[in-house]
Amino acid sequence: MRVIVDTDAVQVHLLEATRGSYAYLIDGGGRTVLCDTGFPGRAQALLSELEDAVRRLSDIVITHYDVDHVGSLKALEERIPARIWLPADDAPYILRERPRPGLKRLIAAVTKAPPPAHWAPLRDGDRIGLLTAVRSPGHTPGHLAFRGPGFLLVGDALVTHHGRAGPSPAVLAWNPELMRETATRLLSGYSGWILPAHGEPVQVGGTAEAAAKP
Ligand SMILES: [Zn+2]
Repeated sequence: MRVIVDTDAVQVHLLEATRGSYAYLIDGGGRTVLCDTGFPGRAQALLSELEDAVRRLSDIVITHYDVDHVGSLKALEERIPARIWLPADDAPYILRERPRPGLKRLIAAVTKAPPPAHWAPLRDGDRIGLLTAVRSPGHTPGHLAFRGPGFLLVGDALVTHHGRAGPSPAVLAWNPELMRETATRLLSGYSGWILPAHGEPVQVGGTAEAAAKP
């Protein structure tokens, strides 16, 4: 685990076992929360990396329906008793009640990402410990980001590249225009850590950016 945020209130770790589509561990407010689960087949490596935190793990929150985020969810459910929270509007796709739109229908068909047996829905404004769900549609219809003290778990609503955050590739988006609107809204006036699945965590806004301005 790589520590990203470490304050009296909260610790956030990036999980190296999910390289390629990062999951994060958020410890604080009396809850230990895993955000996303990486590709299929990562459950055992992920649990090994969590070490002692496995025993505290209380909740798993999911940002959206893509298989590199829900891929190891079922395998984790079978190994640990954490509560599972799905973004309400992406849940029908995760549960295979509805086919994922476009290209992702094919990806989902050839990739094993079985749905969890037990879960509860999350909507904009819902809170899990220190995290607040933030509606962030566009990449998928029901995408959620999660805001915490000093950080924003962005799922695939944003990606980072060379220390900057921006919208993820339009070709992978359910609705590219909506995705760009969401990216602008998430970044507007925001100051703190951006924690993406794709790309490395970056700090935006605040004094660092102000200092860089001429
Ligand atoms: Zn995605």
